[in-house]
Parts: sequence; C-alpha cells; structure tokens
Amino acid sequence: MTTTQYQIRKVGVIGAGVMGAAIAAHLANVGIPSLLLDIVPPDETKDRDVVARTGLEKALKSKPAAFYTKRSAQLVTIGNIEDNLQALAEVDWIIEAVVERLDIKQALYDRLEKILTPQTIISSNTSGLPAHMLIEGRGPSFRANFLITHFFNPVRYMPLLELVPTADTNPALLPFMRQFGTEVLGKGVVICKDTPNFIANRIGVYGFLSTIQRAIDEGYTVGEVDTILGPSMGRPKSAVFRTADLSGLDTLVHVADNLYQNAPEDPWRETFKVPEVVHQMVSEGRLGEKSGQGFYKRVKQPGSPSTILALNLKTLEYSASEKVRYPSIGAARNYDDPDQRILTILNGDDRASVLARETTADSLIYAATLAPNIASNIVAVDEAMRWGFNFDLGSFEVWDLLLKNPSTLEKTFEGRELPELVRRVREQGQGTFYIDSAGQRQYFDFTKNIYKPVPVPTGNITLPALKSANRTVHKNESATLIDMGDGVACLEFHTKMNSIDEGIIEMIHYAVEEGPKQFRALVVGNDAADFSAGANLFLVLMGARQGAWAMIENAINGLQQANQRLKYSPIPVVAAPTGRALGGGCEIIMHCNHTRALAESYIGLVEVGVGVIPAGGGCKELLLRQGADIEHQKAGKTGGPFTPSRKAFETIALATVSTSAVEAQELRFLRKTDRLSVNRAVLLRDAKADAIKLAEAQANGQWQPAKPQDMLLPGPGARLVLEQQVDNLLLTGKVSEHDAVVARHLARVLTGGNCSPLAPLSEQQVLDLEREAFLSLCGMEKTQDRMQAILMTGKPLRN
Ligand code: NAD
Repeated sequence: MTTTQYQIRKVGVIGAGVMGAAIAAHLANVGIPSLLLDIVPPDETKDRDVVARTGLEKALKSKPAAFYTKRSAQLVTIGNIEDNLQALAEVDWIIEAVVERLDIKQALYDRLEKILTPQTIISSNTSGLPAHMLIEGRGPSFRANFLITHFFNPVRYMPLLELVPTADTNPALLPFMRQFGTEVLGKGVVICKDTPNFIANRIGVYGFLSTIQRAIDEGYTVGEVDTILGPSMGRPKSAVFRTADLSGLDTLVHVADNLYQNAPEDPWRETFKVPEVVHQMVSEGRLGEKSGQGFYKRVKQPGSPSTILALNLKTLEYSASEKVRYPSIGAARNYDDPDQRILTILNGDDRASVLARETTADSLIYAATLAPNIASNIVAVDEAMRWGFNFDLGSFEVWDLLLKNPSTLEKTFEGRELPELVRRVREQGQGTFYIDSAGQRQYFDFTKNIYKPVPVPTGNITLPALKSANRTVHKNESATLIDMGDGVACLEFHTKMNSIDEGIIEMIHYAVEEGPKQFRALVVGNDAADFSAGANLFLVLMGARQGAWAMIENAINGLQQANQRLKYSPIPVVAAPTGRALGGGCEIIMHCNHTRALAESYIGLVEVGVGVIPAGGGCKELLLRQGADIEHQKAGKTGGPFTPSRKAFETIALATVSTSAVEAQELRFLRKTDRLSVNRAVLLRDAKADAIKLAEAQANGQWQPAKPQDMLLPGPGARLVLEQQVDNLLLTGKVSEHDAVVARHLARVLTGGNCSPLAPLSEQQVLDLEREAFLSLCGMEKTQDRMQAILMTGKPLRN
C-alpha cells in the first residue's frame, strides 16, 4: 500500500457544462478555488474561453442558485484545454465532467497523464461508464489516483456523491475522498462497485422504465402516476414523470442505453429498452424542463396565469391534467409518517393501490436481486435512493416495512417469488434488514449473514439516540432539553414545522434558568429539516379574531423575554439552524450568543408577509447588528443613526430571506464570526464543539455573558424619510395600501418611535415599540386575512 498523503486546496474541472460549472460553483461555496476548462470552439478566434465563460455565466444565473453567494464566483478561473491544460499541474484534484463519450474521455486522459504529478487525484463525473473502461491504456500512477466521483444534479442541492474505485485505486484514496466529500463538500457519500450506472441510477432508472411501461400497458395517465407515486408513497412531489423532466429525457435514454449495452447479465435487461414514446419525444426535442416540454408543458396565455399540461402517452398530445382522487391516497394524507402512508396505499383496493403495489414489487425485487452485485452493503443502496432521489425510505427500508407487516407483504407480492436475499434475511437473519440493538441501528450484512452497526459520520449526534439512552433532562409537548454529554445540553423544538408556541417559550426559560446548574453551555437545535417556520400564527389569528388582545400581548411579551433570556444567559448559547428559520425562528437565532448554521439555511424576518412586523426582538437585534448601539454610534462607524434604521428597514420591509447561510451573514441575520457546516449529519456535533469552546473560553475569562446594549435611533425625522419612500412605492403601484400601512409601522419601530435622536433607548423600549406595532396591526382585518390565507393555502395574500 502506498502512503500518498492527499490534500485538496485547488481543483481543476474539465467540462463547463451543466455539471462541471455547477461542481466548480459548489467548490467555491466551500471556499475551494478551481480552474474551469472547456474546449476552444472551432469558429472562435477572439474569445478562446467562451465555452467555459458561458458555462460559468449559466451557473451564476441558474435557479435554484448554484452559488451560496455570487461573490464566491471569484474563486472560479476559466480557461480552455488548448492553452491552459498545463496549469492543471498545479491543482490537487482534476474532475473530468465532459460529454458522456468513452472515446472523448479516454483521449483527454491521455493528454492529462503527461501533466499529472504523482499526487494529483483524477476523477470522472460519468453517469455510468464503467471505471475500468475509462482507465484502459493508462499507466500505474494515473490508475492509482483515479476514481469516479459521481455528483447529482443540481450539484449544490442533491446530497448524493457516488464514489467508484477501480481495482487499481490507491487504497488510501477512497477513505480520503469519502471524508472530503462528507466533511468539506457536505455530501452523503456512497461507495459503489464498478458496475454500469452504479447504484442510484441503476435502480432509479429501472424504476422509471418499469413504471412507464406499466402506465402504457395499463392505461394510467402521466398525472395519475405522479399523484400515486409522489409524497403519498414516500417520494418527492416530482414523483416519476416530473423527475424525468427535471433530469432530461436525453440523459435518461443515455443512461438506459448504457445499461442495456454494458450489463448483458442483468435479468431485467429488456426493461432498459426505452419505450417508443420516449424515443419519439427525444427525437422531437421534447427533453423535459430544459427544452420547455417533456411529460409536462407549461403554457401561458397573455393576461392569465400559466397552466401546466400533461402529455397523453398514447397520442403524444398535451392536455390539462384532470384532478384525480383515490380513497387510498385520501386516507394516506392523514398521516405525517411515510411508513403509515405507504402501508395505507399498499393495503387499499383502488386503482392507485394496484399501481403502487405493482411498481413497489418491481423495484424492490430489482433492488434486492441486484444489491450484492452493485453495492458492498444494503445501507449503500438505501442511502443512494434517499440522497439521490429524495425518497423518504430506501429500498431495504421499504422491504422492512413490508416484512413487519406480513399481510401487506403478501398482497404486494401476490403470485411473485420473493428474492433470495429476502428469504435469507428471514431464515438466517432476524426477519428484517435493519434491527435496533441497544439503541444502535444495525444492518444485515449479506456477505456474512450477520448484523453490523450502520456506519455514521464520525461524531454524528442524533437526538432520538440520546433520548433513547435516557438523556432527556426535561420535556413538554413542544420541546425537550437533552443532555448531549460533556456539559452541553440541547434545547430541541418538536412542534409541527417547529412553530414557536407556549411550550417552546416555557422550555427556553427552563433551559436558561436550570441549565447552568447542570451544564456549561446550551445548543438550540433539532433533527428536523427546518429549524423553525416562525411563531404559531394560528394562535395569533384565533386571538385576533376573538379580540383577545391581552392574550396576544402576553404571548409576544413571552417570546421577547424568552429571547432576552437566551441573549443574557449566564452560560453560552449556540443556535444550530438548518433549512428554514423564519420570523420567530430567525429571532431566536439572533438572540443566541453564537450560531453554527447549516450552509443550506434560509433565514429571514418575513412577518410583513402576514401583515405584521417582527416583534420577538427581531427589529431590535437587526438594528443592533447594523450598528445602532451606542458604542458603534459614538465611534461614528455606521454613518450616523439613520443608517442602521434604513438598512434594517430595507431588509425587513421586503421580507428578505437568505438563500444560504453565507447570504444570511451578508444580511446580518448571522454574524461574520458565526460558523457554517455543510453536512446536516454533523451539524449538531459541530454546534456542540463550538459550545464547548465558548464554555472553555468562559472558564478562562475570555468569554462573558452579554451586556445590555442601549441604542441611538434617529427618531421621527428619519421616520418621515422612510415613509416618503413608502408613499412613492404606493403611488407607483409597487406596493398595496396595506403593505404601506405595515411598512409605516415598521418605520416607526426602526427609527425609535418618538425618541429624540440624542437620547439612548434601552432594548426594552424598542421591544415595547415592536409589541405595540404588532398589536395594532393584528387588530386590522387585512392583516387577519393575510394570516388566514397563509394558514389555509400556504401562499401569501397581497391585499
Ligand atoms: P453538458 O453537455 O452540459 O457539458 C459537457 C461539456 O463538456 C460541454 O461544455 C462540452 O463543450 C465539454 N466538452 C466536450 N468535449 C470536451 C473535451 N474534450 N474537453 C473539454 N470539454 C469538453 O454535459 P453534463 O450534463 O454537464 O455532463 C457532463 C458529465 O457529467 C457527463 O459524463 C455526464 O454523463 C455526467 N453527469 C451528468 C448529469 C446530469 O444530470 N446532467 C448528472 C451526473 C453526471
């Protein structure tokens, strides 16, 4: 075994298409510079870098955004493979992401081989060409440093990164890349065997093709299939056909053809013969989202909202999708738990249940038959399906659901033989692929017929595991205080969408009051997808409709005081946001002493959307972060007392939500000193480590609890200036009457009400202004209508 020490400080990406440019963008997201090269176009003499330049420009404009913030595009240098290939001698890792053609890739490697140093890692982003074929003709050093790194599209958002080594890959390289992929790139890394299309695309494309074949044979429409095989069956909303449109039908055909050619031993090989309809669609350029039409087509008549039409699989014409209702899906929607939803549908007797059973049986049989050939364990298969396709459950997790429910198993596989691996887990294992052994999740190892612990990233912390190990300190319906070990406690919210209610507020008070007796630091975080969607609007609306003003005032005061307690906690408090942290959720973060945020955090004060203003201390904290505190004002650092008010006004009045944690730092919802983690699986581990550091700093006298911050705000004169801006927007029809009413209240709070510009205001005085504005807006019919609209439709009402 060689002892090559790998490190990655600079990367070369070859091919600036959809994937290459997005990979360079994601490297920039995590602070790694790259050189992005593409071909010199045959007819271009002036701008030899135009292909790479265009690729980078597309990545900058892509939606959803490829970059955390456009500023990091500076880290990407463009060039071409004729003039700049030699520069790749300076990089630590070369990622090849050129067109999916074996001959082109091999010819490129031939040129690269002459440039690489013995330490340069080289990888291909191929969707499915076998690794051993890619390295044909290469020498030992190239082979030792080569592997496939298969990113998924869109690179920033899809967690899966498949790694495929060859027999010649340096044994030290795979663990290095796994670690790098997990910790630095934030990916869910899955190691695959070198078989065509690896794991996710092998099983996923089989699932797509077997489903479309059944839809054609049995007369299910495109809309029906996507209704049946979407969230009700634990799949994303894009289900089957919309997912195909998003991936691109040309890509799909490519992957299927590759499989048909390169996996002659596949027992279901014939399924990979793409149906005629799909061929016809591709030949007509109906490639899905990128060409404007595929299985769906969005049409827009002037003056009316756009509508989505679905393809008729028989006539290839588009028509409006009819809303289809099935009793089984109606019943499944009552459950939040995907297990319950899937069981409800599989046990039903309608048309939806028939298709769900047939397609589930097809794909589960395929996965269980293929797994030993394509993966080293079942965990890899499940992770590939969850991370690559956003499924709630991997194939073997669905198997377990059925194995635990024998009547559903029987109904789903009626007349079909169970795969050998399933019979084995029943006869030689404990009847399911996963078991829980003393709080530890273990999987059935098909090579030895024993159970082994499911591997997790080093130091990974999950709250359910802590709870089942009796580490709960205190709990109520909405929140729990959990001992994370090493003197750190975690305050977890667990209401629906983690909306903030009385129980959460009570637990904050408890944590700050009782916590310091047992712990040296506190983390505010959870295991959910979203940190918090904000205050419980339903309660506010109910109160407002009933005129229960004292109740609302109490609740707002409760949130304000809970947040103040977090801010002035005697021990350090670290927030660990992930996903959405909106309204009250954002306010909680802003009151913590430090934040460890997931890079994918969408943070904002969005209250104006429902006709109110931030009143849990959000206005106050944003003012402070913009420099409204006396210290900054006296030092003259922030351009006078109006500047913080104006900046905070711009952010809150537009309900700005960051599209990443980096942008949240630019907007000052997060501090420059706050830290980011890219991998959800290690966020709590990292937050805990930060909390320990602060606790140690406190013990050394280098960290102290926060001190009250008085502010200087500009007063009524400045309010008039902001109001003038609002009036202009109103006159030009850019905002509604009620938007203007809300904005005027906001302007009043942010400029300090009737304060004199020279008289310091305490934090409590600004909180009082927030509360007063909030209450008077709650009393307005139009604000109540906005709240109701969000609660009923999830969409904002612009009244
Ligand atoms: P693309 O067509 O968008 O881009 C390919 C780029 O390669 C083009 O810009 C082209 O000019 C360039 N190119 C062609 N020959 C070249 C050469 N000799 N040297 C340098 N550049 C060259 O393709 P893509 O979708 O970005 O796919 C790139 C690779 O990633 C393929 O291997 C594909 O199978 C794989 N992949 C694609 C997806 C996806 O969803 N698009 C997902 C995973 C993997």
